[in-house]
Amino acid sequence: MNWISNYVRPTINSLFSRREVPENLWTKCEECGTMLFHRELSDNLKVCTNCGHHMPITPRARFAALFDGGVFTEVKVPEPIADPLQFRDQKKYVDRIRDARKASGEKEAMLVAEGEMGRTPIVAAAQDFSFMAGSMGMYVGNAIIVAAERAIKLKRPLVLFSAAGGARMQEGILSLMQMPRTTVAVEMLKEAGLPYIVVLTHPTTGGVTASYAMLGDVQIAEPGALICFAGPRVIEQTIREKLPEGFQRAEYLLDHGMLDRVTPRTKLKDELVAILRMLTGATAPVKGELPAPEASDPAASGPAASGPADSGPAASGPAASGPAASATSAEPQPAP
Ligand SMILES: [Zn+2]
Repeated sequence: MNWISNYVRPTINSLFSRREVPENLWTKCEECGTMLFHRELSDNLKVCTNCGHHMPITPRARFAALFDGGVFTEVKVPEPIADPLQFRDQKKYVDRIRDARKASGEKEAMLVAEGEMGRTPIVAAAQDFSFMAGSMGMYVGNAIIVAAERAIKLKRPLVLFSAAGGARMQEGILSLMQMPRTTVAVEMLKEAGLPYIVVLTHPTTGGVTASYAMLGDVQIAEPGALICFAGPRVIEQTIREKLPEGFQRAEYLLDHGMLDRVTPRTKLKDELVAILRMLTGATAPVKGELPAPEASDPAASGPAASGPADSGPAASGPAASGPAASATSAEPQPAP
C-alpha cells in the first residue's frame, strides 16, 4: 500500500502532467490543422503561419502590437449600474459577468487606450469577443462614448476594432439603447472633423453592425471575418435557399461594396498609419527601423548644417546686398 501510494501514484501523476505541458505549448490551426508553437503564433499576432487563418486576439495583445513599443495608456470607462433588470436565465447575470471577468482577466468587453501608432497619436477601442461574446451592453456603450470624447479632446483620430455577437440580452432595452448612443458618439467625431476608422474582426454581428461598426470613414476588415446582422444559418432557414460560398465574409462584402479594404492583421498597423496620416494631412509615414532622434540630430544636421548657417548670414549678408545694390544702381544707369 505504501509502495503504491508513495511511489507508483506520484510516478503516474508526473508522467501525465509531463505530457500535458507540451500540449499547452502548441495550438492547432482549426483551418489547416497545422500545429503551431505558441510563441511563434503570438509573434505572428495569432495568424496561422501556414495558411494565414486569423485566430481571435485579445484587445490587450492587439494594442501591444499596434502601439509603438507596445506602450499605451488605458482610458478609464465610467461604470454603468450593474444588472439593472436583475436578469436570470440558466445563470444569474451577475454570475455570468463575474465568471467572464475571472476567465478573461478584463473588466468588460471593450478596452480603450491612447498612444502613438507609427508616431501618429491615436485613440483606439477594441472589443473582446472572449468576454461574453463581446456583447454590446451599457459598458461597451460608455467605452465608445469615452473613446470619442477623448479623441475630440486630444484632437486625435479614433480607431475601433469590432468583434461582437450583438446586443447583451441580459440588459434588455438598455443594451439596444447603446445603438443610438454610440451613433451620436460617432457623429460627435464627424462634427469635430476627426477620422473614425473601423476594423471589423471575426465575428462582428447583430446590433453592432446596425450602429458604430458600420459608420467608419474607412471600413477595413480582417480576412475571413464574418460580418452580418443576421447570420447565414438564420437567413438560410428563413428563405429556404442555399447561400453562395463565402456569403457575409469579409472578401465577399468587399466584392459587393460593403467594405473599403480587407487587410491581414500583420499588415494592419502600416495600413492604418498610412490612411490616418493621409486623412489628417500629416507627412507620409516613415516605415521600417527609424533611427533614434538623439543619434541622428547632432551628428548629421547639428554641427554640419548650423555651422555654415551661423557664419553664412555674416558673410553672405553684405555680399548679397552688395551685388544687389550695385545691380539696382547699375540698372537705372543704362536706362537714362
Ligand atoms: Zn492554418
